[in-house]
Amino acid sequence: MAKEIILSIENLSVEYKVRRGIVKAVRNIDLSLNRGESLALIGESGCGKTTLGLSIINLVPSPGYIKEGQILYYGESEPFDILSLDKESLRKFRWKEISMVFQSALNALNPVLRVWDHIRDTAKAHGNIPDDLIKKQAYELLELVRLEPERVLKSYPHELSGGMKQRVLIAISLLLNPKVIILDEPTTALDILTQKNIMKVLEDIKKRLNLSMIFISHDLSLAAELADRVAVMYAGRIVELAEVNDLFYRSKHPYTLGLIRAVPTVTAEFRELIPIPGTPPDLIDLPSGCKFHPRCEYATEECLKEEPPLIKVGNDHYASCYHWKEVKH
Ligand code: SF4
Repeated sequence: MAKEIILSIENLSVEYKVRRGIVKAVRNIDLSLNRGESLALIGESGCGKTTLGLSIINLVPSPGYIKEGQILYYGESEPFDILSLDKESLRKFRWKEISMVFQSALNALNPVLRVWDHIRDTAKAHGNIPDDLIKKQAYELLELVRLEPERVLKSYPHELSGGMKQRVLIAISLLLNPKVIILDEPTTALDILTQKNIMKVLEDIKKRLNLSMIFISHDLSLAAELADRVAVMYAGRIVELAEVNDLFYRSKHPYTLGLIRAVPTVTAEFRELIPIPGTPPDLIDLPSGCKFHPRCEYATEECLKEEPPLIKVGNDHYASCYHWKEVKH
């Protein structure tokens, strides 16, 4: 079946103006999301993945700004640029078409409001929906995220565990039936068993609601279990983009390979873990040429001169590396 695009990010650059200079958080990114697809954005902290997620709903916080680019949304009508929506249209668009579960979401619930109040307020902010309809939808969504609606709706946030709060927030993000959901580090700050439960919940949502999803994570196992495609970000750019198995078993970028080698696997044979040497670059003062060259074991003189473009290296597989043919697992 032909893939149908729901979101297309074109030549997007986002910067933050700080006292020390300009932080180039996202640089000339082109990326699309298909209907019903799960796309993982992975990379170390500070690579620009959260900024990219926030840009999609035009919510980059000050002192950040979108320098250039457009984000086309193909909903049910004609495609339009999300970045050109006025304040009121954007307010209606968010949560109804694209919703986001933010990083550090565990602190996002108001401690003096019960779960029912959070759900009701969110629904009412987007229209005069009768309480009984909101309650029906709340029951269905809380069951979908494997919570007991009767008990949870009456609870205050402090009466819920971290995993339960995260599931409540996922349920709230689905309340207005969005077509796209962005989850920023949905399993961070949770213990390993709770992480597994959240992953199962997300798998269920993926199967049952046929949503398009973007997972932002530094956790490769989340990407491996839930994503159809994975985009690897480094220094504000996508350096590799591929279907999930190609990315993990046939990676063509030394940075992707470095990320994979640096984490243990619980299913495969024991192997030595090899950390990536060095640290991510300063986004105010980026190195010349390929931004990964100071840490790359494959780097040559050529890599120091110009940044390699993201090119096709296989079927639906793209990498930005001059020496991708030499990259071996
Ligand atoms: Fe390494 Fe050069 Fe490829 Fe960059 S272009 S990842 S420095 S081999």
